[in-house]
Amino acid sequence: MADPIVIIGSGMAGYAVAREFRKLNSEAPLLMITADDGTSYSKPMLSTGFTKAKSAKELEMASASDMSEQLNMSMRTHAIVQAIDTSAKTLSVDGSSVSYDKLVLATGAEVNVLPFVANTAERVCSVNDMDDYRIFREKCAGVKRIAIIGTGLIGCEYANDLLNGDYDIDLIGPSSEVLDTLLPIEASKCVTRALRDAGAHLHLNQNVVAIEETESSVIITLDSGEKIEADLAVSAIGLKPNTRLAQEAGLETNKGIVCDRSLMTSAKDVFTIGDCAEVDGHVLLYVLPLMAGARALAKTLNGTPTNLSYGVMPVMVKTPA
Ligand SMILES: Cc1cc2nc3c(=O)[nH]c(=O)nc-3n(C[C@H](O)[C@H](O)[C@H](O)COP(=O)(O)OP(=O)(O)OC[C@H]3O[C@@H](n4cnc5c(N)ncnc54)[C@H](O)[C@@H]3O)c2cc1C
Repeated sequence: MADPIVIIGSGMAGYAVAREFRKLNSEAPLLMITADDGTSYSKPMLSTGFTKAKSAKELEMASASDMSEQLNMSMRTHAIVQAIDTSAKTLSVDGSSVSYDKLVLATGAEVNVLPFVANTAERVCSVNDMDDYRIFREKCAGVKRIAIIGTGLIGCEYANDLLNGDYDIDLIGPSSEVLDTLLPIEASKCVTRALRDAGAHLHLNQNVVAIEETESSVIITLDSGEKIEADLAVSAIGLKPNTRLAQEAGLETNKGIVCDRSLMTSAKDVFTIGDCAEVDGHVLLYVLPLMAGARALAKTLNGTPTNLSYGVMPVMVKTPA
């Protein structure tokens, strides 16, 4: 049997490529390998759970086995690709070797972690995937005061969502307005004012310098000396593309895994898409770019080399406040 097209990663990018490819080709073997359980879900919904009254379970759209059947695709879940040999066209996956015809790296991005937060921290969390979200929702049960560190898209969306969930919110960020790197200043001021009016306690122009956990709370120290006590802290200080696997395999990496507009990396027959990819110099950690990429890449994988083109790509900021 022919070697499969292997997709590493079951996020929106991995599944979008598989879906687009199957529209063009129902037969060629596809294999998806993913470190998580392969649940298909819409990641943007993870910051609207309280507003839409949906639990983590209700945000799951399909299981790995449903997706495998729908897409006529083999799946290996809870499987971590440790290494790629681009000359032999093989992968090492948990001690076994897997051959590929073409390879798609859709390994996403990982959260930046504050340097003084221990990875054993019980009362500090970040949300970047469904597993994180399940844990976050468990931690939210029975608590009242939640501090959010970061006033970018994700921090503001969680502030808005948790206010709608009736939590007491402290929102901490280094700039004088929220969303300052994304919006014109007047719009930033408008969202800042709306979050304050909705009840958020804003701590702007402030950096976190220490986080300490006690038996029953987390204490966040700001550079002004102010201390904020909360039941739980959500760290939302940005993401960085997951490039380690590609880098160790000798692929060109920069901010992300470097690729051209056909999503081809520096290695033959190896492509990249989604949050891990740096396309023609741009890292775009949003859904619309990966959808445009999936449509183009599906054609390339099916034998018609195709460059992606981005149309207008609005990013909706989900802070109805
Ligand atoms: C809370 C939140 C809200 C958002 N809201 C919006 C929004 O409103 N609009 C918008 O456009 N974007 C939004 N985004 C961004 C958008 O969701 C992401 O850009 C997109 O989901 C990224 O998908 P991905 O498949 O590239 O990465 P991921 O979802 O991170 O998937 C990566 C996959 O790779 C797997 N993996 C990684 N390394 C390995 C390995 N070595 N071996 C095997 N598997 C591996 C992981 O297990 C995972 O399955 C939001 C993001 C978050 C966190």
